[in-house]
Amino acid sequence: MAPWDDILADLRGHLVWLADAGVGEIPAPPPAPKRAAAPAAALPAPPVPHRAGAPPPPPLAGEGGAGIRRSHPVSNTHPASSPEEKLTLLQIRADLGDCRRCKLAPGRKNLVFGVGNPSAELVFVGEGPGSEEDLRGEPFVGPAGQLLDRMIAAMGFSRGQVYICNVVKCRPPKNRNPEPDEMDACAPFLRAQIASIRPKVLVALGKIAAQHLLSDSTPITRMRGRWRKYAGIPLMPTFHPAYLLRNPADKGKVWEDLKAVVTALGRTLPKA
Ligand code: SF4
Repeated sequence: MAPWDDILADLRGHLVWLADAGVGEIPAPPPAPKRAAAPAAALPAPPVPHRAGAPPPPPLAGEGGAGIRRSHPVSNTHPASSPEEKLTLLQIRADLGDCRRCKLAPGRKNLVFGVGNPSAELVFVGEGPGSEEDLRGEPFVGPAGQLLDRMIAAMGFSRGQVYICNVVKCRPPKNRNPEPDEMDACAPFLRAQIASIRPKVLVALGKIAAQHLLSDSTPITRMRGRWRKYAGIPLMPTFHPAYLLRNPADKGKVWEDLKAVVTALGRTLPKA
Protein backbone atom coordinates (compact mmCIF):
# COMPACT_ATOMS: atom_id res chain seq x y z
CA MET A 1 0.00 0.00 0.00
CA ALA A 2 1.39 3.43 -0.94
CA PRO A 3 2.08 5.86 1.94
CA TRP A 4 -0.75 8.17 0.85
CA ASP A 5 -3.14 5.22 0.97
CA ASP A 6 -2.25 4.83 4.66
CA ILE A 7 -2.82 8.54 5.21
CA LEU A 8 -6.17 8.44 3.40
CA ALA A 9 -7.20 5.36 5.39
CA ASP A 10 -6.33 7.16 8.65
CA LEU A 11 -8.24 10.24 7.53
CA ARG A 12 -11.28 8.17 6.57
CA GLY A 13 -11.19 6.48 9.99
CA HIS A 14 -10.93 9.86 11.70
CA LEU A 15 -13.96 11.19 9.78
CA VAL A 16 -15.96 8.03 10.45
CA TRP A 17 -15.30 8.39 14.20
CA LEU A 18 -16.36 12.06 14.14
CA ALA A 19 -19.50 11.28 12.14
CA ASP A 20 -20.39 8.39 14.46
CA ALA A 21 -19.84 10.66 17.46
CA GLY A 22 -22.38 13.09 16.03
CA VAL A 23 -19.94 15.84 14.99
CA GLY A 24 -21.60 17.90 12.26
CA GLU A 25 -18.92 20.50 11.62
CA ILE A 26 -15.17 20.67 11.88
CA PRO A 27 -13.70 23.21 14.30
CA ALA A 28 -10.91 25.67 13.47
CA PRO A 29 -7.32 24.41 13.56
CA PRO A 30 -5.60 24.50 16.94
CA PRO A 31 -2.62 26.64 17.91
CA ALA A 32 0.64 24.80 18.50
CA PRO A 33 0.34 22.70 21.65
CA LYS A 34 1.97 24.14 24.75
CA ARG A 35 3.64 21.17 26.40
CA ALA A 36 5.15 23.32 29.12
CA ALA A 37 1.86 24.87 30.27
CA ALA A 38 1.12 24.36 33.94
CA PRO A 39 -1.51 21.64 34.15
CA ALA A 40 -3.44 23.26 36.96
CA ALA A 41 -3.85 26.47 34.97
CA ALA A 42 -4.91 24.64 31.82
CA LEU A 43 -7.53 22.54 33.54
CA PRO A 44 -11.11 23.65 34.02
CA ALA A 45 -10.70 23.10 37.75
CA PRO A 46 -12.43 19.73 37.73
CA PRO A 47 -14.14 18.85 40.96
CA VAL A 48 -12.50 16.01 42.81
CA PRO A 49 -15.28 14.03 44.39
CA HIS A 50 -14.05 11.75 47.10
CA ARG A 51 -16.30 8.96 48.15
CA ALA A 52 -16.96 8.91 51.86
CA GLY A 53 -14.78 6.26 53.38
CA ALA A 54 -12.84 5.72 50.17
CA PRO A 55 -9.14 5.02 50.57
CA PRO A 56 -6.69 7.79 49.70
CA PRO A 57 -5.02 7.75 46.28
CA PRO A 58 -2.52 4.93 46.01
CA PRO A 59 1.14 5.70 46.62
CA LEU A 60 3.33 6.30 43.63
CA ALA A 61 6.06 3.90 42.69
CA GLY A 62 9.15 4.50 44.68
CA GLU A 63 6.97 5.07 47.73
CA GLY A 64 6.78 1.44 48.67
CA GLY A 65 5.14 -0.24 45.64
CA ALA A 66 5.37 -3.93 46.38
CA GLY A 67 7.32 -6.01 43.94
CA ILE A 68 9.31 -3.16 42.37
CA ARG A 69 13.05 -3.16 42.78
CA ARG A 70 14.09 0.39 42.02
CA SER A 71 17.57 1.69 41.56
CA HIS A 72 16.36 4.93 39.87
CA PRO A 73 13.70 6.57 42.05
CA VAL A 74 10.86 8.04 40.00
CA SER A 75 10.49 11.78 40.29
CA ASN A 76 7.05 13.09 41.14
CA THR A 77 7.68 16.38 39.35
CA HIS A 78 5.94 17.11 36.07
CA PRO A 79 6.66 16.92 33.19
CA ALA A 80 8.65 13.70 33.28
CA SER A 81 10.99 14.17 30.41
CA SER A 82 14.53 13.65 31.64
CA PRO A 83 16.53 10.75 30.18
CA GLU A 84 16.62 9.22 33.66
CA GLU A 85 12.82 9.16 33.89
CA LYS A 86 12.50 7.81 30.35
CA LEU A 87 14.88 5.07 31.41
CA THR A 88 12.61 4.31 34.32
CA LEU A 89 9.90 2.80 32.10
CA LEU A 90 12.55 0.43 30.84
CA GLN A 91 13.50 -0.28 34.43
CA ILE A 92 9.89 -1.04 35.32
CA ARG A 93 9.67 -3.43 32.38
CA ALA A 94 12.91 -5.03 33.49
CA ASP A 95 11.50 -5.38 37.00
CA LEU A 96 8.48 -7.21 35.59
CA GLY A 97 10.71 -9.61 33.72
CA ASP A 98 9.04 -12.94 32.96
CA CYS A 99 6.44 -12.14 35.61
CA ARG A 100 4.73 -15.04 37.39
CA ARG A 101 3.22 -12.99 40.21
CA CYS A 102 -0.38 -13.98 39.48
CA LYS A 103 -2.39 -16.81 37.95
CA LEU A 104 -2.67 -15.06 34.56
CA ALA A 105 0.95 -15.85 33.74
CA PRO A 106 0.55 -19.46 32.54
CA GLY A 107 -2.09 -18.58 29.95
CA ARG A 108 -0.38 -15.69 28.24
CA LYS A 109 1.55 -15.78 24.99
CA ASN A 110 3.10 -12.37 25.54
CA LEU A 111 3.23 -9.95 28.42
CA VAL A 112 1.66 -6.67 27.23
CA PHE A 113 3.46 -3.89 29.08
CA GLY A 114 2.37 -0.69 27.32
CA VAL A 115 3.21 1.41 24.30
CA GLY A 116 3.76 5.03 23.42
CA ASN A 117 5.56 8.15 24.48
CA PRO A 118 7.38 7.85 27.84
CA SER A 119 6.77 11.59 28.34
CA ALA A 120 3.15 11.57 27.17
CA GLU A 121 0.84 14.25 28.51
CA LEU A 122 -2.07 11.86 28.01
CA VAL A 123 -2.25 8.23 29.17
CA PHE A 124 -5.06 5.78 28.39
CA VAL A 125 -5.57 2.83 30.74
CA GLY A 126 -7.68 -0.17 29.74
CA GLU A 127 -8.42 -3.35 31.64
CA GLY A 128 -6.27 -6.07 30.06
CA PRO A 129 -5.03 -7.57 26.80
CA GLY A 130 -7.35 -9.46 24.46
CA SER A 131 -6.40 -12.21 22.05
CA GLU A 132 -4.86 -9.95 19.39
CA GLU A 133 -2.92 -8.02 22.01
CA ASP A 134 -1.73 -11.25 23.61
CA LEU A 135 -0.45 -12.47 20.24
CA ARG A 136 1.33 -9.24 19.37
CA GLY A 137 2.45 -8.12 22.82
CA GLU A 138 0.97 -4.65 22.31
CA PRO A 139 -2.13 -3.11 23.91
CA PHE A 140 -5.21 -2.09 21.90
CA VAL A 141 -4.33 -3.51 18.48
CA GLY A 142 -7.57 -5.41 17.76
CA PRO A 143 -10.86 -3.88 16.59
CA ALA A 144 -11.26 -1.94 19.85
CA GLY A 145 -7.72 -0.67 19.43
CA GLN A 146 -8.47 0.55 15.93
CA LEU A 147 -11.41 2.48 17.30
CA LEU A 148 -9.20 3.89 20.07
CA ASP A 149 -6.73 5.02 17.40
CA ARG A 150 -9.54 6.93 15.66
CA MET A 151 -10.58 8.50 18.95
CA ILE A 152 -6.99 9.55 19.62
CA ALA A 153 -6.63 11.00 16.11
CA ALA A 154 -9.88 12.94 16.47
CA MET A 155 -8.42 14.50 19.65
CA GLY A 156 -5.41 15.69 17.66
CA PHE A 157 -2.88 13.10 18.76
CA SER A 158 -1.15 10.22 17.07
CA ARG A 159 -0.91 6.87 18.84
CA GLY A 160 2.82 7.46 19.34
CA GLN A 161 2.24 10.76 21.15
CA VAL A 162 0.17 9.22 23.94
CA TYR A 163 0.80 6.22 26.17
CA ILE A 164 -1.50 3.20 26.28
CA CYS A 165 -1.47 0.43 28.87
CA ASN A 166 -3.74 -1.83 30.89
CA VAL A 167 -4.48 -2.65 34.51
CA VAL A 168 -3.21 -6.21 34.02
CA LYS A 169 -0.42 -7.03 31.61
CA CYS A 170 -1.48 -10.59 30.79
CA ARG A 171 -4.60 -11.80 29.00
CA PRO A 172 -7.34 -13.18 31.26
CA PRO A 173 -8.63 -16.51 29.92
CA LYS A 174 -11.57 -16.22 27.52
CA ASN A 175 -11.34 -12.46 27.88
CA ARG A 176 -13.01 -12.54 31.28
CA ASN A 177 -12.61 -9.55 33.58
CA PRO A 178 -9.38 -9.52 35.59
CA GLU A 179 -9.95 -10.70 39.16
CA PRO A 180 -9.08 -8.63 42.24
CA ASP A 181 -6.02 -10.70 43.19
CA GLU A 182 -4.69 -10.38 39.63
CA MET A 183 -5.20 -6.62 39.57
CA ASP A 184 -3.59 -6.31 43.00
CA ALA A 185 -0.56 -8.31 41.86
CA CYS A 186 -0.11 -6.11 38.79
CA ALA A 187 -1.01 -2.78 40.45
CA PRO A 188 2.51 -1.76 41.53
CA PHE A 189 3.63 -1.84 37.91
CA LEU A 190 0.74 0.29 36.64
CA ARG A 191 1.38 2.75 39.47
CA ALA A 192 5.03 2.86 38.53
CA GLN A 193 4.24 3.43 34.83
CA ILE A 194 1.98 6.36 35.64
CA ALA A 195 4.46 7.80 38.13
CA SER A 196 7.24 7.52 35.56
CA ILE A 197 5.28 9.21 32.76
CA ARG A 198 3.48 11.63 35.08
CA PRO A 199 0.95 12.69 32.42
CA LYS A 200 -1.20 15.79 32.63
CA VAL A 201 -4.36 13.71 32.21
CA LEU A 202 -5.36 10.05 32.54
CA VAL A 203 -8.28 8.49 30.69
CA ALA A 204 -9.70 5.32 32.25
CA LEU A 205 -11.27 3.19 29.52
CA GLY A 206 -14.18 1.24 30.91
CA LYS A 207 -15.49 0.02 34.23
CA ILE A 208 -12.56 -2.15 35.27
CA ALA A 209 -9.88 0.51 34.77
CA ALA A 210 -11.96 3.30 36.32
CA GLN A 211 -13.03 1.29 39.35
CA HIS A 212 -9.51 -0.05 39.92
CA LEU A 213 -7.71 3.28 39.58
CA LEU A 214 -10.24 5.13 41.72
CA SER A 215 -10.92 2.35 44.25
CA ASP A 216 -14.57 3.09 43.63
CA SER A 217 -17.26 0.58 42.71
CA THR A 218 -19.63 3.18 41.23
CA PRO A 219 -20.96 1.94 37.85
CA ILE A 220 -19.14 3.39 34.85
CA THR A 221 -22.44 4.77 33.57
CA ARG A 222 -22.44 7.11 36.59
CA MET A 223 -18.68 7.76 36.68
CA ARG A 224 -18.07 8.60 33.03
CA GLY A 225 -17.76 12.22 32.05
CA ARG A 226 -16.96 13.40 35.58
CA TRP A 227 -13.43 14.51 36.48
CA ARG A 228 -11.70 12.57 39.23
CA LYS A 229 -8.08 12.37 40.39
CA TYR A 230 -5.58 9.55 40.62
CA ALA A 231 -2.44 10.31 42.63
CA GLY A 232 -3.03 14.02 41.98
CA ILE A 233 -3.49 13.56 38.22
CA PRO A 234 -6.86 14.54 36.69
CA LEU A 235 -8.61 11.40 35.46
CA MET A 236 -11.53 11.16 33.06
CA PRO A 237 -13.49 7.89 33.19
CA THR A 238 -15.22 6.94 29.96
CA PHE A 239 -16.57 3.91 28.15
CA HIS A 240 -14.21 1.25 26.77
CA PRO A 241 -13.87 1.17 22.95
CA ALA A 242 -14.97 -2.49 22.98
CA TYR A 243 -18.23 -1.36 24.61
CA LEU A 244 -18.61 1.27 21.88
CA LEU A 245 -18.26 -1.41 19.20
CA ARG A 246 -21.30 -3.11 20.75
CA ASN A 247 -23.10 0.13 21.58
CA PRO A 248 -22.23 2.68 18.87
CA ALA A 249 -25.06 4.95 19.98
CA ASP A 250 -22.89 5.91 22.98
CA LYS A 251 -20.01 7.23 20.87
CA GLY A 252 -21.36 10.74 21.27
CA LYS A 253 -21.05 10.49 25.08
CA VAL A 254 -17.45 9.36 24.80
CA TRP A 255 -16.70 12.15 22.37
CA GLU A 256 -18.00 14.65 24.94
CA ASP A 257 -15.60 13.12 27.51
CA LEU A 258 -12.67 13.26 25.09
CA LYS A 259 -13.41 16.86 24.15
CA ALA A 260 -13.27 17.74 27.87
CA VAL A 261 -9.85 16.06 28.00
CA VAL A 262 -8.62 18.09 25.02
CA THR A 263 -9.77 21.29 26.74
CA ALA A 264 -8.14 20.22 30.00
CA LEU A 265 -4.87 19.79 28.14
CA GLY A 266 -5.07 23.39 26.91
CA ARG A 267 -5.60 22.28 23.33
CA THR A 268 -8.28 22.79 20.73
CA LEU A 269 -9.60 20.16 18.40
CA PRO A 270 -7.70 19.67 15.16
CA LYS A 271 -9.03 20.53 11.74
CA ALA A 272 -9.86 17.34 9.85
S1 SF4 B 1 -0.93 -9.91 35.06
FE1 SF4 B 1 0.71 -8.67 35.93
S2 SF4 B 1 1.17 -9.63 37.91
FE2 SF4 B 1 0.01 -11.14 36.71
S3 SF4 B 1 1.59 -12.39 35.71
FE3 SF4 B 1 1.00 -10.76 34.28
S4 SF4 B 1 2.49 -9.10 34.64
FE4 SF4 B 1 2.58 -10.50 36.41
